[in-house]
Amino acid sequence: MTQTATLARRDGPIEGGGLTKAGLDHTRDQLVLLENFVKQVLKKDQDYGVIPGTNGKPTLLKPGAANIVAAFNCHVEPTVDESTVDPVGSFVSYEVHVDIVSNQTGAIMARGFAQANSYEDKWRYRNASPKCPECGKETVIKGKTEYGGGFLCWKKKGGCGAKFPDDLPAITEQVTGKVENDNPLALANTIKKIAIKRATTDAALQLPGVARFFTQDFDDQSGHEEEADGDSQDAPPSRPQARPAAHADNVGAVLMWALQEHHLSKDQAFALLGVTSGNQVRDLAAARQTIADKVAEANAKVQNGKGGA
Ligand SMILES: [Zn+2]
Repeated sequence: MTQTATLARRDGPIEGGGLTKAGLDHTRDQLVLLENFVKQVLKKDQDYGVIPGTNGKPTLLKPGAANIVAAFNCHVEPTVDESTVDPVGSFVSYEVHVDIVSNQTGAIMARGFAQANSYEDKWRYRNASPKCPECGKETVIKGKTEYGGGFLCWKKKGGCGAKFPDDLPAITEQVTGKVENDNPLALANTIKKIAIKRATTDAALQLPGVARFFTQDFDDQSGHEEEADGDSQDAPPSRPQARPAAHADNVGAVLMWALQEHHLSKDQAFALLGVTSGNQVRDLAAARQTIADKVAEANAKVQNGKGGA
């Protein structure tokens, strides 16, 4: 039943806009409340992070921002201002703002802005391991010399356990290491979420007093993986995209078929086709075939996975 004191906004502006005793008292009370909240409730490494070797302010993490917003008796309202999902250039970008809105009055107490796009290093590149010539999974590692060297499709990473000689061109000629991500569009949802996360932190730091304690984590490399939790790539994208893609009428029939036949949403069908709008679908028959093939392929994978367990 313990309840954290709410850091409520003062009702109404300070009269005349000048300094008043009441206004100053109120501000001081608020800051004391906030300081207590920060010191007693927020947790290091969970709500905020301290970068080793720096004496700067701790960086506010996503859970910390959420807790501060709650302490102010507010909620967040994110808005996508601009989104680009370009399959030709393989580029995804979201510009968003997040309002922190008072639960009591509905007033906007702070607004933060941010953007995120697929050219950021962490999304633009991925670390590719060689694909296994047997099972096709990216699970091939170099075998240890003491165990005979060669290559091994590592079971611990989900591979099939096959072994290959050192000089097998099917492996050695593959491009590995830091490679361009071949499908940044699959990350669209993650990228949008990160943009919103950044804007939320930015907004939380605009709340009175918060910037005294925290700063923004501009280099949020370390935190992005935990953010991506809800976006496991094999989960179907169920959330609607920010704005409906304009699409040609004749594509509607294909989408309807994909929905009825394969229970695919429009976004899912587009994702399988590698497009973001119907205008990009040139050949309707080929599009149906592609969808049918990819669904069959995915089903086969699921079956194999279950059969092998
Ligand atoms: Zn394998």
